[in-house]
Amino acid sequence: PSITRGITKEISTVSWDDIGGLKDLKKELQKAVEWPIKHAAAFSRLGISPIRGVLLHGPPGCSKTTLAKAAAHAAQASFFSLSGAELYSKYVGEGEALLRRTFQKARLASPSIIFFDEADAIAPKRTDPGGNSSGNVTVGERLLSTLLTEMDGLELATGIMVLAATNRPHAIDAALMRPGRFDKVLYVPPPDVEGRFEILRIHTRKMKLAEDVDLWKIAECTELFTGADLEGLCREAGMAALRENISATLIHNTHFQGARSSLSPSLTKAVLDK
Ligand code: ATP
Repeated sequence: PSITRGITKEISTVSWDDIGGLKDLKKELQKAVEWPIKHAAAFSRLGISPIRGVLLHGPPGCSKTTLAKAAAHAAQASFFSLSGAELYSKYVGEGEALLRRTFQKARLASPSIIFFDEADAIAPKRTDPGGNSSGNVTVGERLLSTLLTEMDGLELATGIMVLAATNRPHAIDAALMRPGRFDKVLYVPPPDVEGRFEILRIHTRKMKLAEDVDLWKIAECTELFTGADLEGLCREAGMAALRENISATLIHNTHFQGARSSLSPSLTKAVLDK
């Protein structure tokens, strides 16, 4: 990492090729995030105002964080990450201070991407039953208003983009969806069979597989598995081979079969139909 005025500039090493499936979504993110940062001069020459925020939503473990990191890597932008739940749990005032400090750092290290995980915790609907109804300003409201002020303060072409992720898009305050804030809302779906095949290929890239391993067949029998589940399955197959023989040189189909039957998917049909 290089140092810019006391700020450590970390460029993520995750690339688009590390993400299986989601071809169209990757293209959308390239247009929305990578281009405005990489070609900021062209955008301002033509007077195009780039979007400032993208909200990614979808079930857990399906690569929202990884997509944000890949977008940052592709744009050669510094990556700052914050968790909504973590900000929410801080002492009074600390969450807002951390939020402001992060925007400040991002400005110094620009171009930058600020990523908010669990954004629904930072910006819950102001009518959320979890909120305080006594008329006092709640923690969530203070965090939200700090976030909105910071986002409104992002001037044109400063090279800072905010990406947020949530599993509960309906719980997010509508104020975040106004123009100039999260103008783009993208659904990150669980992988279909082709996506699962690609994810299995990515996570077995460095593994020594025997010829009898058929990743397509494994993809077919892992419906409702998330990318994270599939990563776990590959690891488990490798562990099974080692457990069987600590000097094993190859991972066989039987190890994948064993891993498949010992693991169950994180997703349920009911979650997907919601
Ligand atoms: P959460 O909502 O729980 O934060 P997420 O949607 O942000 O989850 P990630 O953290 O990006 O998911 O993914 C978890 C792990 O699963 C990653 O480390 C990644 O290796 C793997 N993974 C998920 N989806 C994919 C994919 N499409 N291709 C390759 N790996 C994937």
